[in-house]
Amino acid sequence: MDTAFEQQVRNMAAAMRFPEPVYVTRPNLPPLDTVTGMLAAAWERQWLTNDGALHRQLEDELVRLLEVPHLSLFCNGTIALLTALEALSLEDGEVITTAFTFPATVNVLHWHRLRPVFCDIQPDTYNLDPAGIEALIGPDTKAILPVHVYGTPCDVNAINDIADKHGLPVIYDAAHAFGVRLRGESVLGHGNLSMLSFHATKVFTTAEGGALVTQDPELHRRTCLLKNFGITGEESVEAPGLNGKMNEMQAALGLAQLAGLDANTDKRRCLDGIYRRLLKEEPGLVLLDLPSDVEPNYAYFPVRVREDAFGMSRNTLYNALKAFNIQCRKYFHPLCSTNPWCRLETGALPHSEAAASEVLCLPIYGTLPESWAETIGTIIRSLGALARA
Ligand SMILES: *Cc1c(COP(=O)(O)O)cnc(C)c1O
Repeated sequence: MDTAFEQQVRNMAAAMRFPEPVYVTRPNLPPLDTVTGMLAAAWERQWLTNDGALHRQLEDELVRLLEVPHLSLFCNGTIALLTALEALSLEDGEVITTAFTFPATVNVLHWHRLRPVFCDIQPDTYNLDPAGIEALIGPDTKAILPVHVYGTPCDVNAINDIADKHGLPVIYDAAHAFGVRLRGESVLGHGNLSMLSFHATKVFTTAEGGALVTQDPELHRRTCLLKNFGITGEESVEAPGLNGKMNEMQAALGLAQLAGLDANTDKRRCLDGIYRRLLKEEPGLVLLDLPSDVEPNYAYFPVRVREDAFGMSRNTLYNALKAFNIQCRKYFHPLCSTNPWCRLETGALPHSEAAASEVLCLPIYGTLPESWAETIGTIIRSLGALARA
């Protein structure tokens, strides 16, 4: 920002600044007494983890809600993903994935001595571009690991066709895709395994938590075994498992949230509509399309900032919004390919690199007042007008 522009932003902010920080998200918190009520029962049972009653109930409820055949709860999404790689016996090779994701997607590969091979994304969906996958498949390729970025389903049919043709397993990082449906069915039905995250920043949360979903009963059995040390009985250990179990406190938080999920989605849809109405005509801002065959979960509201047309860069907008106490997030910057342990030369992933420097995620969560979304949209438009003046 040049100083004159900075001064103008400060003057504008003096009049319109939020009195408290507006975060990009806030956890979806159920009434506390519904949580403590369930915890009281756990106290009564004196049972805190290891396939407790609440854990079992949450698994059953999620299987029903998400319309998936098998779901196994985990302590977090990262350990779930790590376990998925182990369940498929993947190690010492290459995995084709995206650099435009949260670090966990790529970091877990290193724990299995797998090397990420980065495929570029589609500029409009931000998801792995199937057209780039086949050229990257070689003798060391072990799997494909796509991410449903911002909850937008990947091109699952094209990815399935490539995987089938080359005999490769597919693991979806579905951390953003809780409840998302594609052509009337759960998006979690694709690939060998899908990972969900229930981190506090996700649309459905157990504070920390996650799950693996699969259609394959044998793979389900393996994931359940591997998350509990591989123990099959008091004196038998069948596989080198780790501790990936979800505990009863986490499960209680999850169960208590189920009743309010539809209302949360409705509120997010409404906020999404407010942003779209205010920003769709704004020069230089590109909003993420919601395809008509997708039922979204409105987990994120990414906006792409084209500097030439909008008048300022994504980074300048990010900083200017901070002056208004609006804390947006640059999901996903930096790209995973720039990590020292998988450094890739710049220029290799043009669409990923452009997205990482142009996308800003705006605040969206169930308790965000509609008037705040109106104000945020209005501020962004005013900043654009100021920058172009
Ligand atoms: C949140 C997230 C994860 C990690 O999940 P945790 O439950 O925090 O371990 C992995 N991948 C993506 C794309 C995420 O957004």
